[in-house]
Amino acid sequence: MSSHYSTVPIMGIHFIDTTLDGFLRQTIYPALKHEDKCFIVTANPEFLMTTRDNPKFKAIVQSADYVLPDGIGIVNAANMLGTPLQERVSGFDVSQAMLEHAAQNGYRVFFIGASEDSNEKAVHNAMEKYPGLIVAGRQDGYCDVFSEDKVAEVVRSEPDIVLVALGMVRQERWINDNIDRFDKGIFIGVGGTFDVMSGNIRRAPDTWIRLQLEWLYRLIQEPKRIIRVLKTAQFMVMHVPLVHRIKRTFSKKSRT
Ligand code: UDP
Repeated sequence: MSSHYSTVPIMGIHFIDTTLDGFLRQTIYPALKHEDKCFIVTANPEFLMTTRDNPKFKAIVQSADYVLPDGIGIVNAANMLGTPLQERVSGFDVSQAMLEHAAQNGYRVFFIGASEDSNEKAVHNAMEKYPGLIVAGRQDGYCDVFSEDKVAEVVRSEPDIVLVALGMVRQERWINDNIDRFDKGIFIGVGGTFDVMSGNIRRAPDTWIRLQLEWLYRLIQEPKRIIRVLKTAQFMVMHVPLVHRIKRTFSKKSRT
């Protein structure tokens, strides 16, 4: 399905080389219009490290239609390996653009995941921000979202877009297990997106993102993420060969 994109492989996962705008125009909008079905993964370094440790998860990610580089660490690694990606395309940004488009075109959106409080506030805020948005349904992520009853409820709602915010592994497994039951729909794992949409977690300001310090901003709000940050550091050390890091450092110095 991703044949019209070139891809960049990192640790056996093929990232599509596109921009947010390009992905929306070439893939999302046409897929919604033609009622196609697709499975989108948004992966960061910590996500890749998890695929290394969990072969079943890796196989699910490899079976997705599109894997987007959701993390500056992926873009940096691709650069340093000499196979650059055009830009970071985050699950948060893709989901917000899809919500706007859905509200304008009458597409139905189902929201699965996060705490009941975050889920409810995220949906409420989305309806305020994107007037006309049709909410096919919502479910928090702490009930048994894999149960027949819960899955059947999502299927019955005939969604065009299913945002799955159950955290990595669980959200991709939910999509993989259930996508065949739907006739159409864009299925995307969006991690902590509802926590941000609800206002319970603040997204890093643009300056922090530009300085590539988004991970630090998040760590300050959720110190328990330290293990995840260490996984990201391990990814950089392990994956980007030392020689590339040294070369890059020197070429930067000689340019200044
Ligand atoms: N979550 C959930 N059910 C669970 C575990 C997690 O709904 O059993 C939610 C959690 O409340 C949060 C999101 O999944 O809203 C995970 O966000 P995170 O940023 O940790 O995503 P990840 O980096 O794991 O993809």
